[in-house]
Amino acid sequence: MDSRSNVLVVGAGPVGLLSALLLKRRGIEVSVVDQAEPSEARSFAVVLHPRTVEMLASFGVVNPLLWQGHSFNRIAVFADGERRALLDVPVDGEFANGGLTLPQNVLRTALEKALHSAGVKVKYGQRLLSLEQDERQVRSRMVRQKTGARAGHLGHVEDGEDLTVVSDFVIGADGYQSAIRDSLGIAMLEVSGPQTFAFFDVPHPPPMGATVELALAEHCSGIYPLHGGMTRYSFELATAPQNPLGASELGDLRRSRIPWHVSAVETVEWSGVRTFRRALAERFGHGRVWLAGDACHAANPLGAQSLNVGLREARELATAIEECLEGRHLERLTIGYAEQRHLEWRRLLAIGGPPTLGTRAPTWAAKYLKQLLGCLPATGDDLDELLAQLSVTLL
Ligand SMILES: Cc1cc2nc3c(=O)[nH]c(=O)nc-3n(C[C@H](O)[C@H](O)[C@H](O)COP(=O)(O)OP(=O)(O)OC[C@H]3O[C@@H](n4cnc5c(N)ncnc54)[C@H](O)[C@@H]3O)c2cc1C
Repeated sequence: MDSRSNVLVVGAGPVGLLSALLLKRRGIEVSVVDQAEPSEARSFAVVLHPRTVEMLASFGVVNPLLWQGHSFNRIAVFADGERRALLDVPVDGEFANGGLTLPQNVLRTALEKALHSAGVKVKYGQRLLSLEQDERQVRSRMVRQKTGARAGHLGHVEDGEDLTVVSDFVIGADGYQSAIRDSLGIAMLEVSGPQTFAFFDVPHPPPMGATVELALAEHCSGIYPLHGGMTRYSFELATAPQNPLGASELGDLRRSRIPWHVSAVETVEWSGVRTFRRALAERFGHGRVWLAGDACHAANPLGAQSLNVGLREARELATAIEECLEGRHLERLTIGYAEQRHLEWRRLLAIGGPPTLGTRAPTWAAKYLKQLLGCLPATGDDLDELLAQLSVTLL
């Protein structure tokens, strides 16, 4: 069975949903597919930078996020166990009272509702198997997964109905294990080895209210305030633990990493362990198929840069595709979208060597510069402004 659309978006994560919403609002026909079924399961907390909150507000999807999120407007930075600085989070706009933490499902639901109101329903349970493109169009082959079917790899045929979508463009917002990236033969360049993080959501009020705490040492740690009198503790671990983590492990980590927090923690509401890699796709796409979000980069979860830059990519890719559909040359994508994105990521991930520092940078900041770049919840000018508050200038 064939269907046709201007743009096929593969992946209904935050990045895919936002790109589909922006395209649809500009009058472009868009289809969105996701291999998973919508989940009611508890979702982990994500961090939105102030500039992302402002951007979402400009698209009219910020209110439910503000109701169910927790703002932060300062960052206390510790290094080697000593408090070094208290930074003001740069805010430039009328909606964001700083950055925001909230469950990822809340963000997804807000975007999906807006998309639904614009007339697009996400097709869940459809997995991209393969795609072919020529100069005029892309043919994407999908399989409708049987409920409970396990996702396999690209090219692995499963039981279920076969569907083909013919489109002018495809957006691959299909996450870190991107099948679209694989199908284009694009390699993921790992900038550092695997980093394992443990996350704990604890039912006690954030110790410093609307202030995030970042502790730099051999391994980084962070404390973010969450909605509803909750606190999120995140710790980079030396090795992946063998057993699930609970209050006792959290107690050990707090004593060794953030000993200035002396109150005991009795209960952990949720904990999880996950390995991340700092990585960048060697290209962001080709011809009529383009990547955005975790499909083309991965970063330290403490700074949440992959998600936040990914949402900006959604906006920029939607604009570039709209212009191409209106007659601009495909170079608008190659140069206007992909090259710009690549440059930003090379800087964020310090690819090509660590950035050169101005002479006023304190010794501790120079020592932990890579961690700082990955852990601060900001990018672009806002990241430069936070670094400037630490007397750090990147030359
Ligand atoms: C456990 C965990 C903890 C995290 N913690 C944090 C945190 O504390 N703070 C933070 O800000 N960020 C965190 N992140 C990162 C954040 O979730 C991602 O940056 C963000 O989800 C990226 O959004 P995305 O839309 O690019 O991709 P995703 O959210 O990964 O969405 C990709 C979608 O594509 C679908 N898909 C994949 N392959 C196919 C296919 N072949 N066909 C059809 N559909 C497909 C998937 O089902 C998925 O819904 C965490 C991520 C994880 C997994």
